[in-house]
Amino acid sequence: MNAPSPVLDLTRDLIARRSLTPDDAGCCALIGERLARLGFRLEWLNANGVTNLWATLGSGAPLMIFAGHTDVVPTGPLEQWHSDPFAPAIRDGVLYGRGAADMKSGLAAMVCAAERFVARGPIKGTLAFLITSDEEGPCRFGTKHVVEQLQARGVKPDYAIVGEASSNLQLGDRIMIGRRGSLGCDLKVLGKQGHVAYPHKADNPIHRLMPALAELVATRWDEGNAHFPPTSFQISNLRAGTGANNVIPGEAEVVFNFRYCTELTADAIKARVTAVLDRHCPRYEAQWWHTGEPFLTRPGRLIDAAQTAIGSVTGLKPELFTGGGTSDARFIAPWGAEVVEIGPINDSIHKLNEHVKVEDLDRLSAIYEGVLERLL
Ligand SMILES: [Zn+2]
Repeated sequence: MNAPSPVLDLTRDLIARRSLTPDDAGCCALIGERLARLGFRLEWLNANGVTNLWATLGSGAPLMIFAGHTDVVPTGPLEQWHSDPFAPAIRDGVLYGRGAADMKSGLAAMVCAAERFVARGPIKGTLAFLITSDEEGPCRFGTKHVVEQLQARGVKPDYAIVGEASSNLQLGDRIMIGRRGSLGCDLKVLGKQGHVAYPHKADNPIHRLMPALAELVATRWDEGNAHFPPTSFQISNLRAGTGANNVIPGEAEVVFNFRYCTELTADAIKARVTAVLDRHCPRYEAQWWHTGEPFLTRPGRLIDAAQTAIGSVTGLKPELFTGGGTSDARFIAPWGAEVVEIGPINDSIHKLNEHVKVEDLDRLSAIYEGVLERLL
């Protein structure tokens, strides 16, 4: 038998709560109860069915935030799970369950780190938890909403750790210090339907769209920089045609997405795409969706503290990484905080049989505690 682990126990209790976005299923109440016992002041900033907890202990600067989400993505086909995704199970030193890595283990490790740290004496500054039940969904009434409320009151954060699964092959081998921005577009090119035998009486939107897309695909948007790979453009959907082989369709639709780095802005990309479209397509409708600005935390006190804490627990020097998808760090960074994401190995997130190594739970919690020691 292994030694008892409060982090493991709390992770299991959280996994057992079926918290599909935006249902928190009592996770925040459980965490809030633990924090209240330590003297944290709890504030519920719930909105539109999303549970949001803002909890603080201490006063003044620096303000250090532990941030995370209780919601999980759907399980996928249950018969392909080796055990019930909401009944945490340990096999061969690995804990299985939906949310095991993304990110109930991160939350549990943060809560237990705070418990140990607070027990050792008064803190210098303020320690806060910002927890939401909408990170995997539309994200409108989760962290974004909480940040807006707190910003309006003049709350200014200094540091934030988001407990997303950041590690690659071993715990602590990688932390996220930035993320690319994401900008997408639903484009409809309008033409005029007609018979393929009489093209002069029609206007083929496919013929308008293809050269525009060829140009967008061939464009080198930027060269990237020391922290980011070059901006990428990808087409995800393409639709046109009536199904009949003798009809020129009246419209053609395409969906594309940019993952862009700090060398570009969403407006600059839109302007360049618009210039290409204007050249090839006389009539079109473009619906843009912008789901995140890029951000980058420059080397400073937080990254130093994270690297030292990770080094002392794991012996590793983490790679400072900016790849991957977006996370709620995109809402916290523009608020003015240095932000890093530190969490377990991410190879099973959103997959069947999501899991985390049991031995990594206490080690992750020790890393979080080490960061607190160095900053508060
Ligand atoms: Zn997550």
